[in-house]
Formats: sequence, structure tokens, C-alpha cells
Amino acid sequence: MQSFQPPRRVLMGPGPSDVSPRVLAALARPTIGHLDPEFQTLMEEIKAALQRVFNAPDHACVPLPAPGTAGMEAAMMNLLEPGDRCVVAINGVFGGRMADMAGRAGATVVTIEHEWGQPVDPARVEVALAEAPTKVLAFVHAETSTGVRSDASVLCGLARRHGALSVVDCVTSLAGIAVDAAAWDADILYSGTQKCLSAPPGLSPIAISKRAQAAITGRREKVRNWLLDFNLLMAYWGGEGGRTYHHTAPINALYGLHESLVVLFEEGLQASTVRHARTHEALAAGLEAAGLKLLVDPKWRLPQLNTVLVPEGVDEAAVRAHVLNTWDLEIGAGLGPLKGKVWRIGLMGASATPWHVRLCLTALSEALAAQGVKVDRAAVLAAMDASLAA
Ligand SMILES: *Cc1c(COP(=O)(O)O)cnc(C)c1O
Repeated sequence: MQSFQPPRRVLMGPGPSDVSPRVLAALARPTIGHLDPEFQTLMEEIKAALQRVFNAPDHACVPLPAPGTAGMEAAMMNLLEPGDRCVVAINGVFGGRMADMAGRAGATVVTIEHEWGQPVDPARVEVALAEAPTKVLAFVHAETSTGVRSDASVLCGLARRHGALSVVDCVTSLAGIAVDAAAWDADILYSGTQKCLSAPPGLSPIAISKRAQAAITGRREKVRNWLLDFNLLMAYWGGEGGRTYHHTAPINALYGLHESLVVLFEEGLQASTVRHARTHEALAAGLEAAGLKLLVDPKWRLPQLNTVLVPEGVDEAAVRAHVLNTWDLEIGAGLGPLKGKVWRIGLMGASATPWHVRLCLTALSEALAAQGVKVDRAAVLAAMDASLAA
């Protein structure tokens, strides 16, 4: 065997996003023991930082030792018991995954299917909640498969009014658009490190409300998943009364998350969301000048995930191959019903800069021209520059 040397890529897909040299350097610091007092200081800092990022001062916040899907699994497995009713709004891949997990937890699952590219419809959710007592309402705040934002504030409000606990997938939204656990009065929110936090994949920050904690400690039967059982997990991460061994925390991965949070607070949470919005507008202006259209209505567009319709007659996969081979640029393909029909361009975390937008527009213009599409590259870049100057 030889050492693995990855190629240098620019990551503008649906995640992972570019990881800054600062975060990569943090990952390479010496490993210490997970019960070392210095490591416990790091754990406490991460917990407090996650409370800030989720705006969840009254929630228990910890990073789970697995990627974003682990947050989803933890939420479903901890809250749901056999026979519980769970309403899941589905408007893309990840809502479908939530429903699958709820079923595996033994819940009676009621799904509300939406057309891909549309936000979750609160009126339909309200009808489903009014039908029968419901334990959990689950939905995705930022659907990465389509590039759509849903109104988390309204949906969490509906859950509260109908006595249900809310589970909000914030994997792509956190640090890219506003996430506000306190204002939404949301119960469980989870994210991943490889999207707008711009740390490597492998950790899932989660926030759990007092109501959700009471529901978990009051369960009739044990959580059917040992690693993510909140009751066991908090004896390790809780801090009060000393820590007991549960699993070995992914120590160096946590150095990386910690550094990414330091970077985020240096910029400011608000400034970070403004940067995502501005780079998105610049990208959208350039795409429009290239004659390309976005799938999602401007009101519900995610700045960090831009779903671009593939023009008639253009080979979708060939464009992605061109930008990867010629520019070392990764953009994403469509999933499910959008397969072959869209590209997904991520502007997440460290990948949300004017430089990334310029590179992407240049590479895309070239790839389209290679397929005989007329694109005025100078006009595309001028539209981008005009948007950034506005
Ligand atoms: C990426 C993503 C996930 C899953 O995260 P992994 O880190 O891939 O496990 C879940 N939900 C949404 C909305 C995502 O974008």
C-alpha cells in the first residue's frame, strides 16, 4: 500500500463543502484521551457553541459521532415507540428517509407527499395533525435534494398547537440560513458538519428540547438503538456528576468541528447568512445571463443549494464530467424524479465565496459551449459582478 493522496477539488455539490486549511490543521493536532480533563473542556465549549448556532439556550446540544443521518435516526428512535403516530412531510429525498426511520421505530407513519421543488404546505400538515393525536411532526427545513426551504416557524407552531413534538432536519440549513430553535419552539433539530459548517463529514450536531427530553426519559420501553440512546449519551456528554464511558468520542473530528465553530463566530452568524445570500444572488444572476433557469421559486430558494434545470438537448452528466476533469470542480446531480434533469450547485460554508461563483460560472459556460450551447461568458461574469457590486 501507499499513502492516499486525494486530488485537489473545489466542492460545490450538495455536500461535503470545501474545508478550510484552518479546520484541516485542527484535525491534525495530537490525539488526547477522551476522558482527559482538557478534552472535557473542549466538549463543554462545543456544547455551548452549538447552543449558540441553533439559538437553543434551553436545549441539550451535543455532536453525535456519525454523519447527519445519525441526527435523524437519533430523533426518530428516541422519540417514537411502537404505536405512536408520526406525521412526516415529504418534499424530497430526506423527508422520505425520515418516514422510513419512523416506520422502523414502530410508529404509525402518516406521510404527506409534495411535488419535488415545492415547500411543505402547512395547510396539509394541519389537516393531518387534526385527524388524530400525534406524537411527532417531522420535516426538512432545507431540502438538499431540491433546493427548497420550508417555513419551520409555522410548521413548529402547528406541532405545538396540536400537542406534537417537532423534528426539524437542519442538516443543510444550519449556518447557511437562519435557524432559530428558541423562536420556533422546536423540539429536536439536527445537522451535519459537512454542509454549511464546512468541517469534514462524520458528526451530527443535535439540539433536544426539555419537552423532548421528558418524552424520552418517560418512554415505556428502552430506545431500540444503543449508540444514539439519549439517556445513555447524556451520561457521557452531560457533564453533571462526572462522565461515564459510553463510546470513545471521535476526538480529532471534534477538534475540526470546534475550529469550524471558531471560524463561524469570528465571521458572525448573521454575516455568514448574508454572505450565503449574496453569493447565491451573484450565482443566480450569472446563471440567468447564461440562459439557465432555477427549479425553485425565488421565495423558497435555498442560497446554499441551487437547483439548475438542464437545458433541452444538453447532456447533464457530460457537463459534470467536464467541470470535474477540466476545473477540478464538483457539482451535484439530480436525485429521484430530478435525476438527469438538474444540476445541484452548492454554496455552503467555505464554498460560498465570489471566487467559487466565478469559477463555477466560467467552468459551466465552457462546458455548455463544448456542447454547442451559445453562452456569452463575458456577459455571464458581468452579470455576476453587477450583482456583487449592488
Ligand atoms: C446531507 C443531508 C442529510 C444526511 O446527512 P449525511 O451527513 O449525509 O448523513 C440529511 N438531511 C439533509 C437535508 C441533508 O442535506
